[in-house]
Amino acid sequence: MMFSDRISVMKETILVAGGAGYIGSHTVRALCEEGINVVVVDNLSEGHRETVGGALLVEADINDAAALDAVFAEHTINAVIHFSAYAYVGESVSNPQKYYHNNVGATLTLLAAMLRHNVKQLVFSSSCATYGNPVRIPIDESHPQNPVNPYGTTKFMVERILADYHSAYGLNYIALRYFNAAGAHPDGSIGESHRIETHLIPLALKTITGERAYIEVFGTDYDTPDGTCIRDYIHVCDLASAHCAALRALADGAESRCINLGTGQGASVREVIHTCEEVCGKKVPVVFSARRPGDPPVLVAANNLAKTVLKWSPRWTTIREIIASAWNWEQHRNF
Ligand code: UDP
Repeated sequence: MMFSDRISVMKETILVAGGAGYIGSHTVRALCEEGINVVVVDNLSEGHRETVGGALLVEADINDAAALDAVFAEHTINAVIHFSAYAYVGESVSNPQKYYHNNVGATLTLLAAMLRHNVKQLVFSSSCATYGNPVRIPIDESHPQNPVNPYGTTKFMVERILADYHSAYGLNYIALRYFNAAGAHPDGSIGESHRIETHLIPLALKTITGERAYIEVFGTDYDTPDGTCIRDYIHVCDLASAHCAALRALADGAESRCINLGTGQGASVREVIHTCEEVCGKKVPVVFSARRPGDPPVLVAANNLAKTVLKWSPRWTTIREIIASAWNWEQHRNF
């Protein structure tokens, strides 16, 4: 082995589980831009090989303890960022076994490997789905957590597991509760590409590229100013920078806790569709439908904790610029 190789082996490395997925790949990009060594572990069931760029990709499942042991043995892993989860709410209702097995069960395998190899820092992908139906807006981190679907429950269960592992084993963590991830990298090389697309912005844009005939608006009779649901859309690059900030905070000894990631601003379904039309210069064909079961009328984050603890704030502050980046991706995407 050459001397330079030995140095790179010794360099601090972040293991990114699920780094080939939507939010994971943008975070891998941000870490690489900061000059941090990254090893991605991804089974490519939802992720895409093309996204990881210069980072090392180990094609393995986080439920494969032997594969994880090999990665921890080969690299000096300082911290783990864990994105590996299924995230389709509807599928979690029809096939909860898949969600509990992977999102909870496989997470336990990953945590066990971390503890075996004495890696004690974790940034975990959680979700505003852990709150369920809000009783107050904006939603701060002390809001009651009553998830209303198995997906949200899996994230809630892992949050509880992390709190117990922190107390018992000294595992330090920051769980980031994302609101609605949206947008794409401004260079157009990576973006949202799901096996099953269920999200409002990509679906609206696909009516313009011709991939879809129309978009359904799920409910126009909500108690909101225009009758449609309000969500807090946060740019995926802002989520990525928050993960980098969370790693820094953990390295500086930050308290283990859960932190919301949102812009603190809401946009309604009608506003999103109207903005898509403005950005693309074309009409989005709309069909008004019944409410989608389980959709709360309003989800907007209080993001003060992210600002103070992570010293982070969103850079993409308007729904227009978020949609413009998604449109750039949608027109040029190659996976
Ligand atoms: N929505 C809609 N039509 C669609 C997809 C979504 O009207 O085809 C609405 C949905 O009811 C919700 C908002 O858009 O109020 C955002 O939904 P999305 O699935 O993007 O994210 P979620 O909030 O469910 O995580």
